[in-house]
Amino acid sequence: MVNISKSLYCNYVQCKKLVWLLKNKPDEYEETKNDVVLANGNRVGDLARSYFGKYALVKYDEVLINMIMETKKYLKTDSIICEASFKFNNLFASIDILKIEDDGLTIYEVKSSTEVKDIYLDDASFQAYILKKLGYKVKSVNIMHVNGDYVLGDKFDINSYFVIEDITDTSIEKESELEENVKELNEILDSNKEPNIDIGMHCSNPYKCPYYKYCTKHLPEPNVFDINGLNKKQKFKYYYEGKITFEDLIHEDLNNKYLEQINFEINDLKPKINKEAIKELMSTLKYPLYFLDYETCQFAIPEIKGTKPYQVLTFQYSLHIMDEKGNLTHKEFLADSSDTDFVRHFAESLIKDIPDDGSVIIYNKSFEPARNREIIKMYPEYKEGLERINNNIVDFMDPFNDRDYYTKEMKGSYSIKYVLPALYPNDPSLDYHNLPLVHNGEEASTTFVELRDMPKEKQEEIRKGLLVYCELDTYAMVKIYEKFKELV
Ligand code: SF4
Repeated sequence: MVNISKSLYCNYVQCKKLVWLLKNKPDEYEETKNDVVLANGNRVGDLARSYFGKYALVKYDEVLINMIMETKKYLKTDSIICEASFKFNNLFASIDILKIEDDGLTIYEVKSSTEVKDIYLDDASFQAYILKKLGYKVKSVNIMHVNGDYVLGDKFDINSYFVIEDITDTSIEKESELEENVKELNEILDSNKEPNIDIGMHCSNPYKCPYYKYCTKHLPEPNVFDINGLNKKQKFKYYYEGKITFEDLIHEDLNNKYLEQINFEINDLKPKINKEAIKELMSTLKYPLYFLDYETCQFAIPEIKGTKPYQVLTFQYSLHIMDEKGNLTHKEFLADSSDTDFVRHFAESLIKDIPDDGSVIIYNKSFEPARNREIIKMYPEYKEGLERINNNIVDFMDPFNDRDYYTKEMKGSYSIKYVLPALYPNDPSLDYHNLPLVHNGEEASTTFVELRDMPKEKQEEIRKGLLVYCELDTYAMVKIYEKFKELV
């Protein structure tokens, strides 16, 4: 009989087919990218352990019985146990924090997010169910999560940082459902037959499913899910109606930009270029040109005074500088992962690297200028330098966003990751897919968050990956500039 852990139970709650695939098709499993909350998970979990003071920790052991025996030992001697482990039949759970009192046990399930999600209720209720089945009295069940409004003052205050929400009533309501679910889950795991479940909104809710590629391999290419920007609900509506290929969708009442993507693809149309719009944009440029791109990260546990959990913080930039003769130089900044004042150092370095009033070329004007305004709030002493940068911003995304420049290869997207290979199809060095470690902003962000916990050699490797990635972002803008220049 397969052991059912709390994460397997949560997988079941998300999708019955998912648990069957986990057991029967391990080769089809595709690692999904960590999101920012998961990347911060371990650190928040470790921090929470000291919330109630002294505690006993049950060490992880592949042999579950060892963890269960250790828990039994601590139950006699300690009042707070972290990772207390219990097994009832084939159901197994380690409880993040267990409080032991004469009148019963209290469960604390620790989450690094700033809110209670539905799946957490299933997770914690599963733990309470096991304890009750083993005959323990469960006094209360709680979700302990990050307080999104917490602001770091002179000293970190763990009591204000965490919020504890009592979900005892919900866990009691879920008991009968749990009984049924566990029975069905065991049947699925025992069966040789793959559950017949179609893809749907549940494939990415609450977590991105690692079998999405497997479950969508029957779809033709391109299909409704390739329409860039169309909301997911609408995509599934068309999918369930059998409108799946671009040919099926061309006569639908869709926004023009979606129809344009479909039309370019079906009819293999030639690039559409509005030279006048590009000429106008190019006429605004002042030399030297500063091609600039930021990377940001979000730490669950704030380290900089005045910041909140998950506040967006700049940790890296790449800067290509071009003078009037076309000479190009490159500058960059990547925060030291142990530096707890890295935003200040980022701002100081940036202002030094952009001393003149040339155009600051970015890709997406809603991003870098907003970060600069946030830094000004944190450190008003950099107001003048950062406002000067903001006043010189030119957004190279505009022509692509406005569809003044569109090719079939952009696949409806104006992201630089699509635009660049579309403009330079035969240059693999400009293809983000060919980068060694970091391929997009989300990866850069989570990688930087995880960096500190990595061994030194690995850190060096990752830092190189981050530098190469960010440099390509600004080099990409230089290449777009060259393309625009060629056109006008
Ligand atoms: S991709 Fe969707 S349908 Fe397939 S296993 Fe995952 S959640 Fe279930």
